[in-house]
Amino acid sequence: METKVIRMEDRAPVDPSLLSEAAQILRSGGLVGFPTETVYGLGGNALDPGASKKIYAAKGRPSDNPLIVHISRMEELPPLVTEIPETARKLAAAYWPGPMTMILNKSALVPHETSGGLETVAVRMPSDPIANAMIRLAGVPVAAPSANTSGRPSPTTAQHVLEDLGGKIEMIIDGGPVQVGVESTIIDLTEEQPTLLRPGAVTVPMLEKILGPVRLDPVLTKPLGPGIHPKAPGMKYRHYAPRADMILVDGTREQVVSEIRRRAEEAIAAGKKVGIIASEETRGSYSAGDVRSVGTRADEATVAHNLFAVLRQFDADGVDIIYSEAFPDDGIGLAVMNRMNKAAGHHHLRIARDGTETETGGNR
Ligand code: AMP
Ligand code: MG
Repeated sequence: METKVIRMEDRAPVDPSLLSEAAQILRSGGLVGFPTETVYGLGGNALDPGASKKIYAAKGRPSDNPLIVHISRMEELPPLVTEIPETARKLAAAYWPGPMTMILNKSALVPHETSGGLETVAVRMPSDPIANAMIRLAGVPVAAPSANTSGRPSPTTAQHVLEDLGGKIEMIIDGGPVQVGVESTIIDLTEEQPTLLRPGAVTVPMLEKILGPVRLDPVLTKPLGPGIHPKAPGMKYRHYAPRADMILVDGTREQVVSEIRRRAEEAIAAGKKVGIIASEETRGSYSAGDVRSVGTRADEATVAHNLFAVLRQFDADGVDIIYSEAFPDDGIGLAVMNRMNKAAGHHHLRIARDGTETETGGNR
């Protein structure tokens, strides 16, 4: 199939006539790649089991991994769920439209193909004006996972979507680079205590301001092991991953820089192509290897914004091994480090103050 690309990089104001064809494709069971504020989504009619099956097929995604259902306004929520708890109303009032997904008990309207066989459904109202206008015009809720081939880093530009899904879907809307750069925060509201299943730009302090204490799903920081079962099925897959092996290096700035320099030189001497993920503050400290700054430590949102594109650049460059500086895991840093850990298969080198090194993970 030929994938039609429509260009809307100018964004606001969104011209609805440009989106009417996308809305028509969605209503008739087809798929559209579209920008949201988090990453690009691969949209299909959430109420059409056939469309959900096409989404899994196009991504090569396991069908037990449920899709997030996107809505454009609050009136579209009640038909999808059995009830709207007070916690959900408050969170929606505070952070919708925006980069936050809530897990609620699903109604019979949501097919099991969309919910990955679960009795719960993930719902989000994106703030991106193109996404919002497209969903509204379609007149149906839009199921949309990230618009990448399963296992590759999520797409943050229309070009990334074209690389992975060109020829497999009806249309891609090019709205330019996304704003946030990492997938939405996922909060589960179906149990007694609200549980964070995936960190994102709506941070733990932002959630706790509305909800009180939030539990963190154990898989957020630890590698999967015996007895650890993620509640978000998608979190069990190796994900967000570049093709190269990746090692995260944590310690003081001086220790990290000198260890990465040493390892990079060794690997290059052994004939390997080396990538280095640095920051604005440290990029000038490396002399060998393919060095890319992922953003500034002064504002970790910049790291979230650039991370997936940097991982894809390393894929395009054909690097064999990536050494990455680690970042603090507070605020949006929790989302950054969660994605970096997954990309690295939890391969971590930690350097203590006294120089002692501990290396963990790495068997992916
Ligand atoms: P993506 O669509 O690529 O952003 O991934 C969606 C994420 O949401 C995956 O990690 C899913 O496992 C998770 N998810 C979707 N629906 C549910 C649900 N009902 N319960 C728990 N996690 C969910
Ligand atoms: Mg995804």
